[in-house]
Parts: sequence; structure tokens; C-alpha cells
Amino acid sequence: MKNILAIVGRPNVGKSTLFNRLVESRQAIVEESSGVTRDRHYGTSIWNGKEFSVIDTGGYVRGSDDIFEGEIRKQVDLAIDEADSIVFVVDVNTGVHPLDEEVADILRRQDKPVYLVANKVDNTQKGFSSHDFYSLGLGDIYNISAMNGSGTGDLLDAIVKDFVFEFESMYPDDIPKLAVVGRPNVGKSSLINALLGEERNIVTNIAGTTRDSLYTRYNSFGFDFLLVDTAGIRKKARAKENIEFYSTMRSIRAIENSDVILLMIDAQNGFEAQDLAIFQIAQRNKKGIVIVVNKWDTIDKDTHTTKIFTEQIHNRIAPFTDVPILFTSVLNKQRLLRALDIAKDIYERRSIKITTSTLNNILQEEIEKYPPPAIKGKYIKIKYITQLPLAYPAFVFFCNLPQYIKPPYKRFLENKLRQHFNLTGLPIELFFRGK
Ligand code: GDP
Ligand code: GDP
Repeated sequence: MKNILAIVGRPNVGKSTLFNRLVESRQAIVEESSGVTRDRHYGTSIWNGKEFSVIDTGGYVRGSDDIFEGEIRKQVDLAIDEADSIVFVVDVNTGVHPLDEEVADILRRQDKPVYLVANKVDNTQKGFSSHDFYSLGLGDIYNISAMNGSGTGDLLDAIVKDFVFEFESMYPDDIPKLAVVGRPNVGKSSLINALLGEERNIVTNIAGTTRDSLYTRYNSFGFDFLLVDTAGIRKKARAKENIEFYSTMRSIRAIENSDVILLMIDAQNGFEAQDLAIFQIAQRNKKGIVIVVNKWDTIDKDTHTTKIFTEQIHNRIAPFTDVPILFTSVLNKQRLLRALDIAKDIYERRSIKITTSTLNNILQEEIEKYPPPAIKGKYIKIKYITQLPLAYPAFVFFCNLPQYIKPPYKRFLENKLRQHFNLTGLPIELFFRGK
């Protein structure tokens, strides 16, 4: 299980500068070329070989110096709920600010590891001023300059050393993990309750001592799934949380720890920006996705309604227009098992293992018919292809001049892979390497 690090602090202390420094730039490039827009607030970092997620909680209230106390309190509460460790950034140039004291008060009263970071320590001289922050009562102070990177190594050493790693699940690895995600009030807990029975909510609340309480096994009607539990489902969302950031952040852990997600939306509201944000997190993590349009009972329908809804959603999620969309009513128990059916199908297709010989036999034939176009008189040859041993379909194309293979040809290869190996509607990844 990947650890989640949240960055908190009042505006302008340097949270997003630090975020950018922690999140690999390579990732941004890969994502942009695959049609996923870069997320400025959620990304992956790696230090000493340990991969973890980073969330900039300030991301959605950028630029407002007059941020009110309630807002920052919500961000910190959310970070405490959803993250494994918390970096609390303060600004050495301004000294202790009343909002810093607010944040420190909340952080002192909880158990997750907190790293107090004095930022903008651009030279050693400034390091002396950071002693003031001992008054926040959070122990050691890490002096850093997010801008030039100094001090961030020591900070990361400390963070990564404290990580709680890899829990032993009591479940076998080959049971599909399914997460139901979406904004508040779309019907997520109603669906879980319909599947598991009302009594199960109580069970989950009592558990919670071991990490394994993240999963609840669903084993009926020929299905065997682990349903990923989330704070977003367990805790009733607060009414004011109906903004993008909160529902997105509440979905991150569930998405990261699942194979397939059911992204539930409310038919009455349609597919909104917040749904897209969750969709993109799942895409970025290469998860299987089923879009579930719930409360279908509330919609006046004629023969075109389904088609219109489908088109509207496709427009929003382009270029990923082959993701399955299903219309449900949890209230009337309509198509709920169908949703599981589709999830199971995606899981199975996503787990495909293709032998190198099959891959090469089939794809080389396609490549011969339509070879990569020569560039500047240089002839491009794809020598062979192998699948990577990952949880989702990922392939390496070894070729003489990988940098000359352009996006249209990559799309051609991707489409051929999808077509021959039944990978429609799944995130897949292609790499090109010199050989
Ligand atoms: P956020 O609102 O907390 O996310 O803060 P930003 O990351 O947007 O930074 C606010 C301002 O502080 C920007 O003008 C940054 O360039 C500047 N800044 C961030 N980190 C440093 C640093 O280490 N040193 C200096 N001198 N300025 C910094
Ligand atoms: P969550 O916040 O996503 O977990 O949403 P809930 O499961 O708590 O559902 C929010 C509200 O929508 C509740 O009042 C449910 O009874 C209602 N609801 C859930 N599914 C449906 C549905 O298919 N049709 C209708 N009409 N209402 C539903």
C-alpha cells in the first residue's frame, strides 16, 4: 500500500513549490502525452526507492491571502483523515503567524507523524530565525528552501523512514479489489449497503484497528470481490464539502488500492468537473473504470435518453471514450449486479498476460503492413515487443530510434493492441526504448 503525504499550511508559504519539487517531472510528461491533464495537487514521488503519493491540500484556495480560519481547519482535518504523514510548511520570513498556531493546535492533537518545515531558508543565515517555530510545539524543525531544494533531502529521509509499509492482507492477492467512488450523495453507501446488507457498516466501524479493514469481502451471486472501504463512504460527508478538492481527496486512497473503480455519478447532475477530477486520478493510476450513472429512476426517459447521456459523458472524458457506462438505480436495485459483471470483466481483461511470441507474431504483422514513417531519411525499426510484469497492461517496444516514433504512430500501435488483445476500455501504457 502506497503511503500518502499531505502538505498543509497557510497560503504563500511555499506548499506548491515544495509539491512540485517532490513530484517527479517525468510523470508530468508521461501524463500529458497520454491525454491525462497534469494534476497540480496530486502526484507521485519516490525517495530511497520508496514510492508515495503527495497531496498539496492548499491547491484549491490558491492566491487568497485572506483565507479564513475555517477553510484551513478543513484542509488540515482532511489531511489528518486521508494522509499517512503530514508536512506542515511555515515561512521563515514572516515568522509565526496566527494561522500557523491554528494549524499547529490541530496537528498536536492527533497521532499521525507531522514534519514541521521552515521554508524559504535560502541561506544558512536564515536558518537561525526558524528557532521561533519551536513555540508551535511540534518538535524538530526542518529548514528547507523549496525553491532551490536545500534541506529537502534530510526532510525526505525522515519522512520515508517513518512510513508504515506493506500490510499483510488476510486475503489472497488474486481477488479483485473494487472501489466505489464519487461525490457525496450520489449513492455510494446505498450501493455498498445493497450489496453487503445494512449491518456491515457497523462491522467496518468497529474494525479499523488493522489496515485490512480497508477491505470488505463480497462473495455472493458468483462474485468474489474485495470492496475497498473509504473514509468517503464510512464518514458522512459534511455538507460544505461539496467542492472538487474534498471529494477528490477522499477518493485517492481507495483508488490507489483498487484494481477497478466504479465511478458513480448522479443522473440528476450529470458528469461534472469534480467527477472528471476523480476519473483522472483513476486514469493516472491506470485503474479499470466503470462509470455508473445512478438514480436513473429519477430521470424522465425516452428512447434517446441513454444515448444523450452517454455522448455527454464521452465528451467530458475524451479521449477515453471507450470506458463502459452503466445506468443504475440503487433504489430499485436495477442493474447492480450488471455493474459487478462489467467490473469483473474489466478486471480479467486488465490482468491479461500475453507471451512475447504471441505479441510479436501479431504486432509485427501489423507493423509490416504499416511501418513507422521514416523521419529525416532515417529508417525506424521496431525490433521486438514485450509485456511488462505490472498489474495493468503495459508494453515495451524496443527500436533503433525510439525518439522518432511520434504520437500518431503510438496511437496506431495502441489501437492494434486493444483490438487484438481485447483491451477496449482499459488504461494501457506503451514505452519505447532504444535497442
Ligand atoms: P503556497 O500558496 O503555499 O502553495 O505557496 P507557493 O508555493 O505558491 O509559494 C508562494 C511564494 O513563495 C511564491 O512566490 C514562491 O516563488 C515563493 N517561494 C516558495 N518557496 C520558496 C523558497 O524556498 N524561497 C523563496 N525565497 N521563495 C519561495
Ligand atoms: P453517498 O454519499 O454517495 O454514499 O450517497 P448515499 O448512498 O448516502 O445516497 C444519498 C441519497 O441518495 C440517499 O438519500 C439515498 O437514498 C439516495 N439514493 C441512492 N441511490 C439512489 C437511487 O438509485 N435513486 C434514488 N432516487 N435515490 C437514491
